[in-house]
Amino acid sequence: MSAAIYDHIALIGLGLIGSSISHAVRRAGLAKRITGSARTEATLATAERLRLCDAVYADPAEAVEGADLIILCTPVGTYGAVTEAIAPKLSPGATITDVGSVKGAVVRDVSPYIPDTVHFIPGHPIAGTEYSGPESGFAELFDGRWCILTPPPEADPAAVAKLKRFWELCGASVELMTPSHHDLVLAIVSHVPHLIAYNIVGTASDLEQVTQKEVIKFSASGFRDFTRIAASDPTMWRDVFLNNRDAVLEMLGRFVEDLTSLQRAIRWGDGDALFDLFTRTRAIRRSIIEAGQDTAAPDFGRPHGPKTETKKTA
Ligand code: NAP
Repeated sequence: MSAAIYDHIALIGLGLIGSSISHAVRRAGLAKRITGSARTEATLATAERLRLCDAVYADPAEAVEGADLIILCTPVGTYGAVTEAIAPKLSPGATITDVGSVKGAVVRDVSPYIPDTVHFIPGHPIAGTEYSGPESGFAELFDGRWCILTPPPEADPAAVAKLKRFWELCGASVELMTPSHHDLVLAIVSHVPHLIAYNIVGTASDLEQVTQKEVIKFSASGFRDFTRIAASDPTMWRDVFLNNRDAVLEMLGRFVEDLTSLQRAIRWGDGDALFDLFTRTRAIRRSIIEAGQDTAAPDFGRPHGPKTETKKTA
């Protein structure tokens, strides 16, 4: 248990990320008080039942009163309106940060409302699951993951160092970069892969009219893994694509060119081109495992013990 490094943390949004931060803060004792806000009565009631916060408020402005760290954990498209609503209640000297999956648009939408006396240090923990809501959070979500901070050049170094320490005590490693570089990197490692997953599962679901049972019944690991990604929250991902348009379109252009060259290799029976690419991609997978960013267990660690006999009616 570490000593509290903030007196009062306010979490605006209590879904997967907001609730996970609450658990991680409690695990390490990083705050003396946690307050929270969410949009619906149902989420506020669940947050109370789970004791995610010391107090929850329907009005985000009430939740931030007296807080020295405010973390925006709502979908990216809401950040401008939320910041406008809470701005009059932000305490001088407080730090406001966020967890949004894009950074350029967040700086654009949030900065105009930040009082001069408040530090704004955008952030993005690269950790998540395909689940949403206050019950999906867990303290270990950030353990061993990266958190990117994109402080503006004029940011107070002490405030940045404190927020960096906060994320480290939540279990993450922290790296600093510019918002535009963040958006380019995330476009290729996260946003375009999600788009591909949404697309391939969408295509298969259109085929379902013809072969409905087969798509589900024979779903091989390739398709199954895409469906996990394609089950991610629709609101969050709509906002990601609307707010990281340029970087996603740039990476998508590269992707389509490369896909066309694979199409050509298959058409012309160019086995060497296919083999060379698949060898290079296998090495990338090995590097990710060596970097501790995924498990080396076969089939992503899915249990493969003796099957309990269940009667199948296929
Ligand atoms: P989530 O589980 O769906 O939770 C979203 C929270 O925001 C809920 O508490 C929701 O309240 C609240 N909210 C939604 N619309 C709102 C509005 N208009 N005004 C006020 N509150 C509103 O989402 P999440 O997965 O935690 O994602 C939250 C943020 O984390 C997003 O910005 C996302 O880009 C970022 N992020 C997500 C992941 C991931 O894998 N999920 C990873 C890294 C970063 P109600 O429940 O009451 O509607």
